[in-house]
Amino acid sequence: MKNIRDFSLEELENELINLGEKKFRAKQIFAWIYRGVTSFDAMTDLSKDLIEKLKQNYIIDCIFLENFQKSKDGTIKYLFKLTDEHKIESVLMKYKYGYTACVSNQIGCKMGCNFCASAKIGFVRNLTPGEIVGQILKMEEHSGEKISNIVFMGIGEPFDNYDNVMKAVRLINDPKGLNIGARHISISTCGLVEGIERFMNENIQCNLCISLHSSRDEVRSDMMPINRKYNISQVIEVCKKYIVKTNRRITFEYALVDGVNDSREDALHLSKLLHGMLCHVNLIPVNKIKDGKYEKSSVEKMMAFRDLLNDKGIVATIRRELGSDIAAACGQLVRDEQTSQK
Ligand code: SAH
Repeated sequence: MKNIRDFSLEELENELINLGEKKFRAKQIFAWIYRGVTSFDAMTDLSKDLIEKLKQNYIIDCIFLENFQKSKDGTIKYLFKLTDEHKIESVLMKYKYGYTACVSNQIGCKMGCNFCASAKIGFVRNLTPGEIVGQILKMEEHSGEKISNIVFMGIGEPFDNYDNVMKAVRLINDPKGLNIGARHISISTCGLVEGIERFMNENIQCNLCISLHSSRDEVRSDMMPINRKYNISQVIEVCKKYIVKTNRRITFEYALVDGVNDSREDALHLSKLLHGMLCHVNLIPVNKIKDGKYEKSSVEKMMAFRDLLNDKGIVATIRRELGSDIAAACGQLVRDEQTSQK
């Protein structure tokens, strides 16, 4: 059966026409979906007949709450089960300016970054658009909060599931959908050059984040195998094109690892690489994962790294860590409770 949440409004209109129904019914159904309704019976302005037809052809709820954990800082990590029994995790974080949802886009990940727990669990499949927006709807339903920001920083590589992710982005952004402004949506990629090329032509004002983690190819290739396919200069080149094309600032994510990428020379080298670019560097203390070989840099080293970048004219901030006590922080998400380490 098809998942009704996979459709844009236009596609849903076509579906209804194919069912012999009036096109405007799609608007009513779409509105119910994004009001968070999870059963066709609750769509009270539809006829009994139409509700029956919908039930015969579509499912609406495709993601089920299996478990959740609340951190000391209020962050909630959710474990969701999908219709094929596979599980994924998503995270809800509270900031001064509202709630941010961190969503997964694949079951597992193929990229193999050696510091990320999601890479260790093997790849199963891409999530559908409906499964991606479903995470947000479920988190709103469970928490009773309206989510105002979305980050594609959960499990998976968004540009390795490009079409479904972009379709989900449109549903999130659609005023009749989740109605979240594009500027409040961030997509993080490990640096898939073709994906960045496509994304710059989408004409949507989402934020692009690039996981850089080192400005040296030897170090980056060791941390992120994808660097052997797209090296740093290829990634930087396409980022420069993106900035010219969109006039939007790029965020570079840089997980600071003790003794690996956090020296004064590393900061200087990075500042030269990013010199003159419209960008921002987000420094993340590397989070420990099971059997991981990396340790976080000390607070003093992180501050020195940030200060040196700032002195060189590169805006850099240290990301506040949320949810690390429940393994909900960057790189700690996995796909079932057995492998989840606290
Ligand atoms: N596949 C996407 C999204 C990954 S998660 C990407 O690579 O960008 C979001 C961010 O968390 C990425 O920058 C990722 O590199 C970072 N991350 C992964 N594991 C981490 C860890 N153990 N500590 C800190 N950051 C980590």
